[in-house]
Amino acid sequence: MSSLIDTHTHLDDPQFAMDLPQVLARASDNGVDALVSVGIRPESWKATWQLCQEQKHIHPVLGFHPNHLLELEDDCWPALSEWLGAHRPVAIGEIGLDYHWDTVPRERQQHYLRLQVRLAGGLGLPVVIHCREAYPDCLRILREECPSGLRGVLHCFSGDASVAFQALELGLHLSFGGPLTYPKSDAVREAARQSPLDRLLVETDCPYLTPQARRGKRNEPAFVRFTAEKLAEVRGMAFEEVAAATTANARQLFELRKDS
Ligand SMILES: [Zn+2]
Ligand SMILES: [Zn+2]
Repeated sequence: MSSLIDTHTHLDDPQFAMDLPQVLARASDNGVDALVSVGIRPESWKATWQLCQEQKHIHPVLGFHPNHLLELEDDCWPALSEWLGAHRPVAIGEIGLDYHWDTVPRERQQHYLRLQVRLAGGLGLPVVIHCREAYPDCLRILREECPSGLRGVLHCFSGDASVAFQALELGLHLSFGGPLTYPKSDAVREAARQSPLDRLLVETDCPYLTPQARRGKRNEPAFVRFTAEKLAEVRGMAFEEVAAATTANARQLFELRKDS
């Protein structure tokens, strides 16, 4: 079976507390042999790190999610820098701007995006960018902070082809999740069709954004297969080819070893 990498999960989410071993077993049965799990705030970094210590095929990404910036105590910023010094994740994330929920003042979101992009640059780590309904500001800030481009991924891509080209020009990869399979996502599918294969990744963002084939259920890493199948269909390619390319891209971007 072709192997896949689910490049964006939240395995420390309470929705997985009861049956994570079974969830991981189903992922394995579906060829998902490496995963990236994102810790989005201090409590979640610890749980994510612990899980990745126990399961060597799961790789940590740590950072401050834009929707959780109001919970930050003053000591959280030094805490993140300290954590990252002591524990090297495969990327810093997810960081970015979320104007959909808009729960955090936009200036604060932008400030922490800049801080974390600089931190990633200083540590030589890629970034995982979360962006909802904020592409112009997000791309402008990334361009200002990294005029010569940056290494990272725009996760759960939900823009159109023009946004995709701007992100690709900055050096970013694009990661597609469940929304690629939704009936209304024609613009996202067109972006996926036009983007170069060597910049594409697949993900679930589980437990959220379940692909159409299982919509209404909790999302889980095994379902990344549905998104990869849709990506193959959209590009008129064989599933095996898309699986091999997205897996190789993820390994290269996050510098994952072959055996993990
Ligand atoms: Zn996100
Ligand atoms: Zn996420």
